[in-house]
Amino acid sequence: MNIKALDYIYAQNEFNKEMDAIPAIFHPENERVYKPICDVLGIGRVDVVYYDVGCEPVPGTIFVNAGEISGDSFSQREAARSGAYSDYTVFRKQGFSEWDDEDRELISGFIKTVFIHNGRAKVTSMAERLMFFDQDMDIGNLKAFFRKLGEIIAHGRIGEYGACYFNLKRFSIVNRTYGRDNGTKIMRRFVKSLAAKLSDGGVYRIGGDNFAAIFEQGEFDVVKAHLAGTRITAEIPGSPEVNVLANAGFYLCTGEEKTVNDVMDKISSAVVMAKTVSKDNCFIFNDEARQRLDNRKTIESQFASAIEKREFVAFYQPKVDIATGRIIGAEALCRWIRDGKVVPPMAFIPILEQSNAICTLDFYMLDTVCKDIRGWLDKGMSTVKVSVNLSRMHLGDEKLLETVLGIIDKNHVPHELIEIELTETTTDVDFGELRGIVNGLHQNGISASVDDFGIGYSSLTLIKELPWDVLKIDKSFLPDGSINDEQKSIMLRHVVSMAQSLGLQCIIEGVETKDQISLLKDMNCLHAQGFYFDKPLPKAQFEQRITSQYSI
Ligand code: C2E
Ligand code: MG
Ligand code: MG
Repeated sequence: MNIKALDYIYAQNEFNKEMDAIPAIFHPENERVYKPICDVLGIGRVDVVYYDVGCEPVPGTIFVNAGEISGDSFSQREAARSGAYSDYTVFRKQGFSEWDDEDRELISGFIKTVFIHNGRAKVTSMAERLMFFDQDMDIGNLKAFFRKLGEIIAHGRIGEYGACYFNLKRFSIVNRTYGRDNGTKIMRRFVKSLAAKLSDGGVYRIGGDNFAAIFEQGEFDVVKAHLAGTRITAEIPGSPEVNVLANAGFYLCTGEEKTVNDVMDKISSAVVMAKTVSKDNCFIFNDEARQRLDNRKTIESQFASAIEKREFVAFYQPKVDIATGRIIGAEALCRWIRDGKVVPPMAFIPILEQSNAICTLDFYMLDTVCKDIRGWLDKGMSTVKVSVNLSRMHLGDEKLLETVLGIIDKNHVPHELIEIELTETTTDVDFGELRGIVNGLHQNGISASVDDFGIGYSSLTLIKELPWDVLKIDKSFLPDGSINDEQKSIMLRHVVSMAQSLGLQCIIEGVETKDQISLLKDMNCLHAQGFYFDKPLPKAQFEQRITSQYSI
């Protein structure tokens, strides 16, 4: 035996340890890891042909030692249970004494170990692909994005990088024009050509047409220009290039970021700003956005305890019959009494609407209103119907009707004293769910009203096909001294008469002046709500108002 057995055992041990860390069969690190054991075994080169079921054979060299090889070699086949196998050919190094049978046995053992490691590397890389890769786009996914960010943070180099969240603009038109498959190809070209412009970092798919990118700060202009509009050839005969562009939210890291969420939070807020306030589809996270984000986090973190401490209260805004000046109902509007100050709903509702928290608040408000009504009834006070707002975030909750009825019945409130306000809806999916809830309310004797009618997406189908009781017309229809007042009056008149001919009650919101009241009287619109009568009032004040009469 020419191989020194002890040296072999030692080298084999080291080899095993190091191979565990190598992720692929043909990896640049292989050379270094193979060398000590191949020196001991007198191996000059190892070639392999890798066969997998249903694939072309993959030939390659997994190790070449410095210096010549002798003519001596032998081959060995290793097979896995999956049906995959490898043919290895081992060449003796020039100058190493000829291998005898015992030597060949050791070398054969070494080849078996190589095969086991190669198999494991393949499984690991397959699992890695499944976990971290988006097959359609041929780039990493959200997990891969987090992993890359995490690595950069761990290496203390985050201050050198920037990140970006982008959403492709109007990509549904590209899909419709060129077909989904071609749309996917165009999308892939767009993101891969951006990735090719980055020296480190990369582009990752978050889902659908949402992506994230990490780049070195010096490459900011390149990324920005790419996302502002890049012409991509569609690869379809006769079709022109497509200009692909995105809404993009950027954040240039400062080096203070400790976790991946420190970066993710900022780029997700920035992309919302890019979509809403930016003029060029691009927004770089700044102090204003930081304040918004801090505010959002404060509200989210305080919400649960605010509910528990009953810091949210119902204010009541009277609804008035303009013929008599009498209160015929009220709308319950939420206020947050926070550190002694009254916080208006627009400061927290849009934030709560980004999660399920709004649903908790709405049910809490309904419960509060029911308790107040029960109290008025129990004290023998006169009571009016109160409307409660339900966010559209509830649509999709299969138990919505059940929960609403549960709250009303638990408080023993007659159904005719409650009205539910829902805003208009845009999509067919919402429409189906809206139909379910409005029908259910109707069958249970609870009124349903269309809130803010006229802004957003008015749909006559929505009004006609569901058993609504009330149409609440938005204040933007009221003439207010602006140049298009005449147009507004004409539209208002038509909306009022349409509502009446559909048998709906009609109320106009945001009435502030006597002139507006006169106009409404003239149109035979009977009910109104607005500062002309009262602002939303704290419960105690509303209780005093409930029987009074406004002079019209
Ligand atoms: P909304 O349901 O359309 O409520 C009417 C809003 O118009 C109220 O604003 C009210 O104060 C305001 N308003 C009433 N009269 C006038 C007027 O004469 N002039 C003007 N300029 N405004 C008037 P508020 O209380 O700030 O509420 C804003 C929105 O917040 C509400 O609009 C509603 O969408 C939402 N909101 C309030 N409370 C709740 C709640 O408990 N749940 C849900 N989901 N949303 C709520
Ligand atoms: Mg409302
Ligand atoms: Mg409204």
